[in-house]
Amino acid sequence: QIRVGVLALQGSFREHLSHLSKLFEELAKSEDYSEYEFKDVAVRTAKDLEGLSGIIICGGESTTMSILLQRKHLLNPLRQLIREDHLPAWGTCCGLILLSNRVTNNTSLKLGDLKYEVIGGLDATVDRNSFGRQIDSFTETIDLSGATGEEIHDFNCVFIRAPVISGLGNARSLAKIKRNDTELIVAVRNDTVLGTSFHPELVDGDYRFHKWFIDEFVLT
Ligand code: GLN
Repeated sequence: QIRVGVLALQGSFREHLSHLSKLFEELAKSEDYSEYEFKDVAVRTAKDLEGLSGIIICGGESTTMSILLQRKHLLNPLRQLIREDHLPAWGTCCGLILLSNRVTNNTSLKLGDLKYEVIGGLDATVDRNSFGRQIDSFTETIDLSGATGEEIHDFNCVFIRAPVISGLGNARSLAKIKRNDTELIVAVRNDTVLGTSFHPELVDGDYRFHKWFIDEFVLT
């Protein structure tokens, strides 16, 4: 059984779980995937991490999610799995922030003993809230065929108070958008870790990006 987890503490986890379950229904009908049995798993405790073949960190608010990860004792297990054991991982928006090794912009919050901590895994620097406030959210159609090697020419990318990747270490840029003649990196990968500034889970009925994550990261 191929178990794919979605961190389910806060944010767009329901949308990811629903995308995965609909995708898995489709794959179950396909000859190409007949050797696999897929299952989507909501991850709320360290026990839920057992036996996963991949994990998605959803969109949301990364300060809140960082605090919840620490309170639920999930931060260190996830660091171990993603950074040391190379469990395939994909973060959307807030998830991208939490999977980046370096974060800039508003990360000085402290709550008791807890401070802003990330999981890491992507050797990249991410700039939070890079387009401004919530009201500066937008959608843009991006050709992701080069990034994915699939026929994904017209993907509806939803950016909600999104981060951009402002620096690359070993991570590779997969997709960019243009703002005022500047190219901004909005998708990045580092071997087994994938991050997108945008939210494929919020695009109804389009499971192509989720399928690519399964094919390219979870099954390889
Ligand atoms: N602005 C949020 C943060 O910094 C991320 C927004 C999102 O996930 N859509 O955590």
